[in-house]
Amino acid sequence: MARTPLLMGNWKMYKTVAEARAFAEALGQQSSALRDGVEYAICAPFTTLHVLRVMLPAQVKIGAQNVYPEKEGAYTGEIAPVMLAEFGTQYVLVGHSERRTLFGESDQMVNHKVRAIIENNMVPVLCVGENLSQKESGQTQAIVSGQVVQGLAGLSASDVAQVVIAYEPVWAIGSGKTATAQDAEVVAKEIRNLVAEQIDASAASSVRILYGGSVKPNNIASFLQQPNIDGALVGGASLDASSFADMASAI
Ligand code: PEP
Repeated sequence: MARTPLLMGNWKMYKTVAEARAFAEALGQQSSALRDGVEYAICAPFTTLHVLRVMLPAQVKIGAQNVYPEKEGAYTGEIAPVMLAEFGTQYVLVGHSERRTLFGESDQMVNHKVRAIIENNMVPVLCVGENLSQKESGQTQAIVSGQVVQGLAGLSASDVAQVVIAYEPVWAIGSGKTATAQDAEVVAKEIRNLVAEQIDASAASSVRILYGGSVKPNNIASFLQQPNIDGALVGGASLDASSFADMASAI
């Protein structure tokens, strides 16, 4: 099954509106790097989503980095799925390791968020990955499998087919260290097999699996060449428009 490659930026807590505008203008000048048949998205701070939607090249979609899984209510400081969907947000990151470790996001909360995002016709990007001590003690497969199964619990096969799963080894995020493309492929393949065994074979062949963790213009192609890796989730290297364009050109 042909899956559309996806290059997705995660800006974390970087960029003011003025800086986001400058990025969009600069990427617009390099839009010849953006190809048909590839999807592009930037997951940006809430405050910059509007200017990005208006100013980014039309091929680049907008995504959020978090959401609260309730329709509305007394949840001071939170943003509801419908509020994101209303102005054109297409993707929402869920369970990024920074949210799991810094904000105590549990697998149960991740699953609530995944379901709420789907109910509002957006695409959840379920982030999973082992930390260094889990890797060193041989627990990668158990940790990743647990996060995938719990994150997708209760979804129909057709919903799972729409989800994006980002395999991001925690030790590779922002560290300058990457998994080898071959090691990332092993985990991506395990994730796809797990979805086939536990949910549905057709959903497994449709679900897109990204690699994330210190992806840069000079290494992105090696990941995208792997049969079970359908794209990249990129933090630091997505903050600069030329670097984003260089990654787009490299895949
Ligand atoms: C991320 O934030 O999801 C990420 C992978 O960051 P970096 O590319 O900077 O490692």
